[in-house]
Amino acid sequence: MSAVTVTRVGQVGVIRVDAPPVNAISQAVRQGLWDAVEAIVADPRVAVGVLICAGRTFMAGADASELGKPPVPPHLNDLVLFIESCPKPVVAAIHGQALGGGLEIALACSHRVAVSNARLGLPEVNLGFVPGAGGTQRLPRLIGVEPALEMAVEGKPATAQKALETGLINAIAEDLEPDAMAFAATLLEVDPAPVKLNRPIAANSFDADVFDRWRTMCGRRKRGLDAPLAVIDAVQAATGPDFQAGLDTERALSLRLRKSPQSTALRHIFFAERATYKVDGLDLSQAGDISSVAVIGAGTMGAGIAQVFAAQDIPVTLVEISDSAAQAGIARIRSNLEQAVKRGKLDGARVRAILERVTPTTDYNVLGSTDLVIEAAVEDMAIKKTIFKRLDQVCHPGAILATNTSYLDINEIATATSRPDRMAGLHFFSPAQIMKLVEIIRTDKTDSAVTATLASMMKKLGKIGVIAGVCHGFIGNRMYQAYQRAAGLLMLECGSPEPVDAALRQFGMAMGPFEVLDLSGIDIGYLMRKALPDGAVHPFAFQVHDRLVEMDRKGRKTQAGFYSYGAGSMNLDDTVLTLIRDIAKKATIAHRNLSVQEITDRCIRALHDEGKAILSEGIAAKPGDIDVVFVNGYGFPRHRGGPMYYGKHVVG
Ligand code: NAD
Repeated sequence: MSAVTVTRVGQVGVIRVDAPPVNAISQAVRQGLWDAVEAIVADPRVAVGVLICAGRTFMAGADASELGKPPVPPHLNDLVLFIESCPKPVVAAIHGQALGGGLEIALACSHRVAVSNARLGLPEVNLGFVPGAGGTQRLPRLIGVEPALEMAVEGKPATAQKALETGLINAIAEDLEPDAMAFAATLLEVDPAPVKLNRPIAANSFDADVFDRWRTMCGRRKRGLDAPLAVIDAVQAATGPDFQAGLDTERALSLRLRKSPQSTALRHIFFAERATYKVDGLDLSQAGDISSVAVIGAGTMGAGIAQVFAAQDIPVTLVEISDSAAQAGIARIRSNLEQAVKRGKLDGARVRAILERVTPTTDYNVLGSTDLVIEAAVEDMAIKKTIFKRLDQVCHPGAILATNTSYLDINEIATATSRPDRMAGLHFFSPAQIMKLVEIIRTDKTDSAVTATLASMMKKLGKIGVIAGVCHGFIGNRMYQAYQRAAGLLMLECGSPEPVDAALRQFGMAMGPFEVLDLSGIDIGYLMRKALPDGAVHPFAFQVHDRLVEMDRKGRKTQAGFYSYGAGSMNLDDTVLTLIRDIAKKATIAHRNLSVQEITDRCIRALHDEGKAILSEGIAAKPGDIDVVFVNGYGFPRHRGGPMYYGKHVVG
């Protein structure tokens, strides 16, 4: 069957794209659309066209299978110009997503209607390039320069309601096809001459400093990224007098950036995030249902995890050691939700509904019918074993028991139960209600259906699940230790934490390694290291850290750590510099001034080497999974693709 068909209903020519699963804009679709437009132009009985897609979405973007291959005509930009040149109006009828090339085709149509849950956007910037078929030229002409910058620079799709408010669509449809047909009929009654988006933009319709403002914002919030700045250049080109010149500028930027290292890295991580469940032994069709959840421990992590499930309307029992601790957990969730209200993400009614889903208790006996229990109590093997022994007694035999432990051996925790095959790790990241990453840890005995159930549940929660095996720190924290070890040795060599933090910030890490430790508390690593067997920790790399904790310099919470904190300021102080010098001397590490390049290369090499060990031990299934963990859990710059990708392609 042809990917695009044309039928006539009265004076309306209906162009229907049917290319499952997502109506990707393949060569067959492009050629089909070209032929369809020719057909409605040639048919004197047709006065107006309606472009609609079958299946679950409007055209959501390019055909991934054509990426990297020589382009085959008709090219998308030629097709878009051809649709725009159609002398008869064409109404794009949008459901699902009109993204990238899909939106560019819709912009070539004279009108657009969309169902209320449709999303419209230009997400190319997220993959490191600029739309290449007129998106940045037509969008500002249709909705104005600033709203167009917002959509194309941020790369976030707009809702149908927002699209209606900005003028991106002409109407919201309830029943798409009949409503689009009715809309087309109204065009017949008025002036059927199509609206074209190649007219100039009036200079007084936007602020003269708008482009500089957006460039400044990118310098702050999108540091080091090329694509957002190129998108601004492209939109600015749209404000020139010549439409074709603007299109040429956009095309040149798009072609250049598509081949850039940033775009290649961003595409790598985009596909890696979608492939984390492609691992041996995981078959999502084995997934069972989870209709109720319990969380043990209502501290930082437990409260956040409970909130994640409750927000999906899954009832959660929150178990604590005392009524006051349980109530403190509820208060934590309420406070998180109130912050979301302040940011305009939730309303009061939704907050109440989410809170109603969470039942605080101190009684394990109420967990008899719970399907999944996640333990997030303190990081202590003996306490965790006691909790799991109790859970094993009260939970039904089919229940899954999971721990949120950061480092502990889950194989050992599972020995406290009579069902090690139904035991796994679910390592959420802090704050759990915001961070998308979750490591799903299979023990030696975890049943494959249990892993499938957890993986499928994380998907439903909107999390990015990565499958990992048991080792100290799993994928992420183990890698982070290697990174911190390299940073610790570099600090001894440089004589200060500052050049190390500055180099890694410049590389694009969200924060430098010592700034992170000061923020999260140096004592966490201290306690973790104390629990390790002799010889497991590098003899010098963490000595400064341990001395600082012993001096009660635990980080920001004690106003002092690697840095000292005053009212809004962060400073190096002599106590720390002297301590570093003394320990470096003891370790016979000579002082050297290191270049930014050497500092970053050594830290990334440490990550890459640890990643290779993790792969060879089978803890992670593939390098992309490690990249996904580090980009989504540890602030590694997305545009550098992750430590395995960067280590292989750049550091070598
Ligand atoms: P927390 O100290 O904030 O909270 C722990 C809670 O567990 C406390 O409220 C305590 O009262 C409760 N608790 C202790 N024993 C209990 C028991 N027997 N039954 C029920 N509740 C009990 O700790 P947290 O930071 O939320 O960490 C919890 C777990 O999550 C730890 O294993 C930690 O390693 C892990 N983790 C922490 C982070 C993080 O960034 N904080 C990230 C990932 C994983």
